[in-house]
Amino acid sequence: MNDIAPQSWEARADEFSMYGFTDLPSVHERGAVILTHGEGPYVIDVHGKRYLDANSGLWNMVAGFDHKGLAQAAKDQYDRFPGYHAFFGRMSDQTVLLSEKLVEVSPFDRGRVFYTNSGSEANDTMVKMLWFLHASEGNPKRRKILTRNNAYHGVTAVSASMTGKPYNEVFGLPLDGFIHLTCPHYWRFGKDGETEEQFTQRLADELEAVIAREGADTIAGFFAEPVMGAGGVIPPSKGYFQAIQPILQKHGIPLISDEVICGFGRTGNTWGCQTYGFTPDAIISSKNLTAGLFPMGAVILGPDLADRMQAAAEKIEEFPHGFTASGHPVGCAIALKAIDVVMNEGLADNVKRLAPRMEQGLRGIMERSDNIGELRGVGYMWALEAVKDKATKTPFDGKLSVSERIANTCTDMGLICRPLGQSIVLCPPFILTEAQMDEMFEKLEAALNKVF
Ligand code: PLP
Repeated sequence: MNDIAPQSWEARADEFSMYGFTDLPSVHERGAVILTHGEGPYVIDVHGKRYLDANSGLWNMVAGFDHKGLAQAAKDQYDRFPGYHAFFGRMSDQTVLLSEKLVEVSPFDRGRVFYTNSGSEANDTMVKMLWFLHASEGNPKRRKILTRNNAYHGVTAVSASMTGKPYNEVFGLPLDGFIHLTCPHYWRFGKDGETEEQFTQRLADELEAVIAREGADTIAGFFAEPVMGAGGVIPPSKGYFQAIQPILQKHGIPLISDEVICGFGRTGNTWGCQTYGFTPDAIISSKNLTAGLFPMGAVILGPDLADRMQAAAEKIEEFPHGFTASGHPVGCAIALKAIDVVMNEGLADNVKRLAPRMEQGLRGIMERSDNIGELRGVGYMWALEAVKDKATKTPFDGKLSVSERIANTCTDMGLICRPLGQSIVLCPPFILTEAQMDEMFEKLEAALNKVF
């Protein structure tokens, strides 16, 4: 039995739609939340119920749900030229402008940009670029991809193979040649008596050993999110990127920063790699790139990879890859406006200014709870990890994870937050005010008190 009325929106959703990444018994019982519109960081459902969305849609609605300037930029471009030409020697003016802008705001002094419709496709594209350029340079064996356990890079067959999550086993993934290293989460994977520095060194040693075992001449690239997002908001252990990058450089392995979540302000700087003090060889962007208003991804190549990719393409007079809507002018116009809004309308500043307040509020919640073992995060991306026992860090068991129960209780109270593994993730839109942040704290703590 469930609470869903026949012929309701929820019943119709349940009958005709397939839910992705959703706990099915829960949604059959409770019904999906069917949304009709939004106001700032709030979304409103078909029954008029308001939810503060501490999930920013899916990390991406950074300017909230009713930003007039972004909608206007889309409308203006739809009015001017909705059609597009991405290939065969044609490209829209908006695409040219966005590529220039992306290189300008990137950590690179030069570069080139290639467009996709999603973050998954951008990662997929980057892998194909690496295969293409290594083969073109006479290294066709350089095909293996290094990533980490708990990483999330997408859902296409290649990007899901890069993702370090066990749920992909149902698809028979990962494909051969995708190698997952230890997740740099010191609190969970550090050994007894091991300092954080020693943990980082162990992971660097592991990387050296894997390269020695596989042969550097078989490895195409290393992909990493500056902060793992869907893995449960996991910032790198101290000195992680400084320890691994020289090893990769020594072996000629490009470091690709997957900034689909971290890019454009989420960590408090334009790029997550800037927050963690490294310059990658390329950046993968999506989500915040259009403030969630258009499905779009981008590969931003730094100078070395840009030159090598271009040389590889010139050699066969073509890069035989692309999507029908690559560089869609409406997406590009929205992205140009979104970059302006985030950087120049105070959104990025808001994250920088209020991140310590967010940390402090969540830390208080953790300290008052017997069942929150760790608070981790940066900027406007945080996670509270639920544990049965704080001292031993023992996770909860049971079919429906405790984080799922917390998230459902939050939903009932009008707060959307994300259960990820044993963690509750809070990644609100960048426009979140102090008062809205307090509302988030209050609802979250009330939900925790109800569940524990
Ligand atoms: N990379 C990272 C770090 C992500 O978080 C995601 C999505 O959450 C992706 C890639 C995949 O992006 P998309 O869902 O647009 O395919």
